[in-house]
Formats: sequence, structure tokens, C-alpha cells
Amino acid sequence: MLDTGFFRRWMAAMAAAVDREAGRLTELDSAIGDADHGSNLQRGFAAVAAALEKEPPATPGAVLALAGRQLISTVGGASGPLYGTLLRRTGKALGDDAEVTPEQLAAALRVGVDAVAQLGGAKAGDKTMLDALIPAAAALGESLSFGAARTAADEGAVATVPLQARKGRASYLGERSIGHQDPGAASSALLIGTLADTAGS
Ligand code: ADP
Ligand code: MG
Ligand code: MG
Repeated sequence: MLDTGFFRRWMAAMAAAVDREAGRLTELDSAIGDADHGSNLQRGFAAVAAALEKEPPATPGAVLALAGRQLISTVGGASGPLYGTLLRRTGKALGDDAEVTPEQLAAALRVGVDAVAQLGGAKAGDKTMLDALIPAAAALGESLSFGAARTAADEGAVATVPLQARKGRASYLGERSIGHQDPGAASSALLIGTLADTAGS
């Protein structure tokens, strides 16, 4: 079972990972965007970590919902509302249980990923965060293995390199977006990677 502490540790691990990787994320965004993805997520997840410290929520769903609200209110870029929606909708789908199973988390994550696709109008292969999130949610649903989800997210992020961006700022570059990894797919791989770390897999 995954309790509230598990979800708080996951969000704290993501804040630390984003701090550590901010330079790399911004570098990826400087190639096909506006060089702010690392700093956007640093600001957002620092606010998430601070809010969780200040007012620790009582359930897993409430942890993710609070995290999502913080991202929406502190990140100006496209990734704020998108990650905010991912976490808010995943949290809402977890309901009010004090502990959840990996099955419940897998199902909730699918709801969250679907909400991101709906909000941004992107689908698999458009060179966005969804190219890491969709395979990760599918792998988790199929195997209930956090390690398998991490591998799927990492592979999905790397597989964005040869794609042409069809959504977001990178799409303005047309064919010139080919040959670079999508920054949002890279940060989504961090999100799933820190989930696996938190689960000890
Ligand atoms: P901005 O582009 O506003 O500067 P960020 O740099 O923080 O925002 O985030 C860029 C990332 O957001 C992209 O790499 C991509 O993964 C993701 N993204 C942008 N638009 C969309 C969309 N419509 N659907 C899904 N993800 C998107
Ligand atoms: Mg940017
Ligand atoms: Mg920006």
C-alpha cells in the first residue's frame, strides 16, 4: 500500500531532482524553446515542497491535488498548467483513501495523463511530455512495476529526439525541432523516475 507519506516523499524527491537537473532541462529548452523549462519547474516544485511542509495533506489524493494547484499558480509557462492538471486530476482520481494500491495509482495516472492530452490537444508522437507519460502509465498499468514505468518513460523521452514537434513552442521551429530531446518529456521521465526511486525500485 502507498500511504500519504509515500506521496509526500515522491514530491520532495521530484523537487530535488528538478533542482539537480534544472541546467540540463533548460539546455534542452534552449535548443527548441525559450530556455526556461528548468527554472519553471524549479520554481514550481519548490512551491510544491514548501506547501506540503506548511500544511501536510491527510491523504495521497490531497497531496497530489495540492501539488497540482501549486504548479498551476506558480509556473507561467505551458508546463505549469499541464503538470498541474496531471497531478490535480491524478490526485482527484485517487479519492479520499488514506492508502492506495499500485493498481489505484496506475488507474489514476491514466486519468491524469488523459486530462493533459485533452488540455493541450496533443497525442503520442507530437514530441511533448506525453511521449514519456503515456508509455509510463501504460507500463505501470500492465505490470504494476514502478521500475518498468521508469524504463518506459526514459525510453519515451529519448524517442522524442527524431520527432518533429507538433505542439507547444517547439512546433514553431517545424523541421528544425528534429534532432533534439523534448524538455517536457525529459522532465516527465524525472517525475516517473522519482516515483520509482520512492518505491525503492
Ligand atoms: P514554455 O514552452 O511555455 O516556455 P516550458 O518550457 O516550461 O513552457 O515547457 C515546455 C514543454 O511543455 C515542452 O517541452 C512540452 O513537453 C510541453 N508542452 C508544451 N505544449 C504542450 C501541449 N500542448 N501538450 C503537451 N505538452 C506540451
Ligand atoms: Mg520554455
Ligand atoms: Mg516559457
